[in-house]
Amino acid sequence: MLILPDPLILIFNFWKLLNCTQELSLYICAFNNHTIINLLKMLNLVLFGPPGSGKGTQSEKIIEKYELIHLSTGDILRGEIANKTDLGLQAQEIMAKGELVSDEIVIGMIKNKLEANQAAKGFIFDGFPRTVAQAEALDELLKSFNHDITGLVSLNVDKEELIQRLLIRGQASGRADDKLETIKKRISVYEKQTAPVANYYEKQEKYYPVEGMGGIDEIFDRIVSVINKLNQ
Ligand code: ADP
Repeated sequence: MLILPDPLILIFNFWKLLNCTQELSLYICAFNNHTIINLLKMLNLVLFGPPGSGKGTQSEKIIEKYELIHLSTGDILRGEIANKTDLGLQAQEIMAKGELVSDEIVIGMIKNKLEANQAAKGFIFDGFPRTVAQAEALDELLKSFNHDITGLVSLNVDKEELIQRLLIRGQASGRADDKLETIKKRISVYEKQTAPVANYYEKQEKYYPVEGMGGIDEIFDRIVSVINKLNQ
């Protein structure tokens, strides 16, 4: 054992204390940085799935629970049509046929919304991105604001169930595109042009499939357990 004279013990203890304080302050700094990064990090979710998979219904519940901003390109476009804007007039015919509005138009709409909501806790993207080109543009846009997509939550629902849900919705809402022929067209457009968006996020390890059959609250609980893991 090392025997040190009194003044040296004092210096040695002081040196130990100094080291310990340094280590402690490093821990505190790391903790603070982590907390700050988490506080600044937006929760940006893509709610994904075919027409009729329940994106609109579940979005309402998600935005209420997590205080996010809901960006539905379908709702924005229907607003433009209702207001008879130039953009609405361009989109109306395409939407009634069940086809996709041009990437350029919808990317421009999303860009405006992101710019106008910089202080948001996060966004829920519903009906967007609908093509891989839109997904790439969204990544670029978010990157320019120092943010990114947290995850894509995909609602999986059987095709027969989708058609039934949309026919019932059409009777109640009178939506021009909720007719059998257009519904079939929308589902086939989804399979060809939109489904690859899931692979795009899968490659980034951000793909979270959720069973979309069952009761609304039951499905919501499944979504919440995914989001809570992402939000830790
Ligand atoms: P759905 O209930 O079929 O998911 P939405 O309400 O999201 O429908 O959209 C309705 C229509 O609006 C689509 O069929 C398409 O014509 C147009 N639309 C909505 N979002 C987009 C998008 N991101 N890109 C291209 N077209 C879109």
